[in-house]
Amino acid sequence: MKQYQDKDLSADIVLTKLEDLISWSRANSQWYLLFGLACCAIELMQTGGPRADLDRFGSFPRASPRQADLMIVAGTLTYKMGVRLKRLYDQMAEPKYVISMGSCATCGGLFSLGYSVMKGVDKIVPVDIYVPGCPPRPEALTEGLLHLRDKVRREKPFDRKRLVQG
Ligand code: SF4
Repeated sequence: MKQYQDKDLSADIVLTKLEDLISWSRANSQWYLLFGLACCAIELMQTGGPRADLDRFGSFPRASPRQADLMIVAGTLTYKMGVRLKRLYDQMAEPKYVISMGSCATCGGLFSLGYSVMKGVDKIVPVDIYVPGCPPRPEALTEGLLHLRDKVRREKPFDRKRLVQG
């Protein structure tokens, strides 16, 4: 009994809702699939490097869609590559999120008049966050990731409507 009284339990017990705990852990461990398509990919690499340091937010690059829950589409998307992008997106586990990085990924950008260029990644997969720019700086992509974290944190994992929609 004495041992119980001496021990400070306040640091050992955390009370929260399971939903909040799941959302918090998802928001703080966004592992992103490597998906660089053009020059924006250089900025994506820079954002993962030591200066912008996405690791401090719990975000790490993954080379396999099975281990990723975030796809950052960085660069010009052609129709031919769109087929591969959709396949990789389908292979990612739920819940999954997409950031469209740069004007090319968002709407075709400079190359929107090209016959082979898709006019936005949202034509084939749902996009959660659009990061504008040509190319967006690492700070802009970091801000996009922080917005995504806020969005994930507000989600209700056991929301029936979301579970039905998949
Ligand atoms: S938005 Fe600009 S920097 Fe990014 S892929 Fe297109 S042309 Fe390159």
